Amino acid sequence: MHKVEENIERVKARLQTAAVAGGRDPNSVMLLAVSKTRDTKSIQQAAQTGITDFGENYLQEALEKIDILKSLGLKWHFIGPIQSNKTRQIAENFSWVHSIGRLKIAQRLSAQRPSTMAPLNICLQVNIDQEATKAGFSGDEIPLVVEEIAQLPNIKLRGLMTIPAAQHDPIAQRLPFAQLRSLLEKINGSLDNCKKLDTLSMGMSADLEAAIFEQATIVRVGTDIFGPRNKTIL
Ligand SMILES: *Cc1c(COP(=O)(O)O)cnc(C)c1O
Repeated sequence: MHKVEENIERVKARLQTAAVAGGRDPNSVMLLAVSKTRDTKSIQQAAQTGITDFGENYLQEALEKIDILKSLGLKWHFIGPIQSNKTRQIAENFSWVHSIGRLKIAQRLSAQRPSTMAPLNICLQVNIDQEATKAGFSGDEIPLVVEEIAQLPNIKLRGLMTIPAAQHDPIAQRLPFAQLRSLLEKINGSLDNCKKLDTLSMGMSADLEAAIFEQATIVRVGTDIFGPRNKTIL
């Protein structure tokens, strides 16, 4: 087996164990393979194990890989910071965007999503620890933003995403995830059944168990699938 295949086996086992321990169906958690900085060969190896969804942070790098791998029918998720002048290519090439931190970006993505494609799935990024350096909406802003975004035609609001400050203690890791979960529940309490949000994008290599205990539906895993990233790149 390739290293990537072995790693995926291990991550899937962790996901399964956490889901079962939390009383959840393991199939209710999607494993998103974060492939930023990785070559197309590694992505192909991951795809061969049955992974269909890949996360990318840098548009130019992503577009090259999407083109090279187009015959594989993969689903691409944009999870990095978004500049306004990049929205068109994101709207045209991705299935999901997890990192919506400004209303204007959502408006542009909706306007630029080709009508021949399914609506773009989006998550609102929440700066749950209120870190000054981190992108995203504050929790307080979310209810109003949800109302605004519900009006946009070519995007489908699926849920919330967060990247909390790194912590080692498993109990401490759960706190921001619990906050994101209760924010989602609060929003859903005010939405019609057909509009309810079904996605919590939270948990990475170091804290995916904590996120699954708090009802994550997508965990975004890079390092534990593909190995350590070259720190000079990111
Ligand atoms: C890089 C990245 C990940 C993956 O992090 P790992 O610690 O390598 O698993 C997840 N989410 C986002 C938004 C990222 O930028």
